[in-house]
Amino acid sequence: MGLDVGVVGVGMIGQEHVRRLDGGPGGSRVVAVADADADRAAAVAARLPAAKALPSGEELIASDAVDAVVVTSWGPTHEPYVLAAVAAGKPVFCEKPLAPTQESCLRIVEAEVAAGRRLVQVGFNRRYDPAHRALKQAVDDGAIGAPLLVHCAHRNASVPPHYTRDMSIADTAIHEIDELRWLLGTEIAAVRVMTPRRSSRGGELQDPLLVLFEMADGVLADVEVSVNVHYGYEIRCEVSGETGTVELATPAPVTIRREGTVAGLVPGDWRERFALSYDVELREWVDGAAGGRPPQGPSAWDGHVAQVVSDAALRSLHTGSRVAVELPERPALYR
Ligand code: NAP
Repeated sequence: MGLDVGVVGVGMIGQEHVRRLDGGPGGSRVVAVADADADRAAAVAARLPAAKALPSGEELIASDAVDAVVVTSWGPTHEPYVLAAVAAGKPVFCEKPLAPTQESCLRIVEAEVAAGRRLVQVGFNRRYDPAHRALKQAVDDGAIGAPLLVHCAHRNASVPPHYTRDMSIADTAIHEIDELRWLLGTEIAAVRVMTPRRSSRGGELQDPLLVLFEMADGVLADVEVSVNVHYGYEIRCEVSGETGTVELATPAPVTIRREGTVAGLVPGDWRERFALSYDVELREWVDGAAGGRPPQGPSAWDGHVAQVVSDAALRSLHTGSRVAVELPERPALYR
């Protein structure tokens, strides 16, 4: 049986996900879309064989035609849509961040716990990237012994004018927050954000940032967040262990040797770098939802913990101090 999906928010990533979900190999189709911009929703629906543009996300979630919901509107708008989907008993895939504060994420966790079953999956797509999966496999297999240090970089070519210093943590480094928990299988115990010399390419924006995470087992992880590098989009991760190191290889499909130089192509943005991860992520989500199984991917709890850490990192950014991360007890639903 296929899965009839409704998509709330059809901007950049919403349209990417619509393309993957409509007529994809898992037998899903997009039957409804909604967006704050009604003309955009109508234009997206017009390109799809079975989709209607509905006036609001709430009506889309309540529609009998919709089996499962994808929320790809802007982060601060996620909470009411995810709560409505949980109340309707429909599987919901929500792009990161689950919601903009730990309090709003906790309300989602509590709603799911009250419903007594997992319906929410959060779009932490790194977990589906083949290179990240191979990195984790090497660590889990003991190929480098016990991990000691992790070095990451999250580099964007540029960001839009409305991008703020806080977004470097809450929208950008939040990917590394989930990645580190998943990769190392342990929680983040404390965080410190440092502000190096500012890049002149970012105008008034404090860019880059250096974020230092202390994991609960003593591993230290540093993350460079640079959002105006201009040369392209680059994600790096190297794990240094007791007996060796493992790192993500360059994703360039070819290496060019000419005129005394060696060069590889750098992806332009996240769409190019992580295309395969979104394919796998949505395919696995569709398969689970169509089969009536609880989602196996990042849960509302993972979304909540990421937000607790993000909030701690923001406090560190604002105060310059190390901030300890206080996690509430994990509910039985997520054990
Ligand atoms: P975007 O291009 O701005 O798209 C968001 C869309 O949602 C816009 O069409 C916007 O309309 C609409 N919208 C705003 N408020 C709404 C509401 N209350 N109800 C319904 N629609 C609403 O943003 P984006 O880059 O696609 O990002 C969307 C989400 O995906 C964000 O949470 C972002 O962090 C996440 N994301 C994840 C990844 C990843 O790698 N996993 C990559 C990119 C983005 P207006 O333009 O009229 O406001």
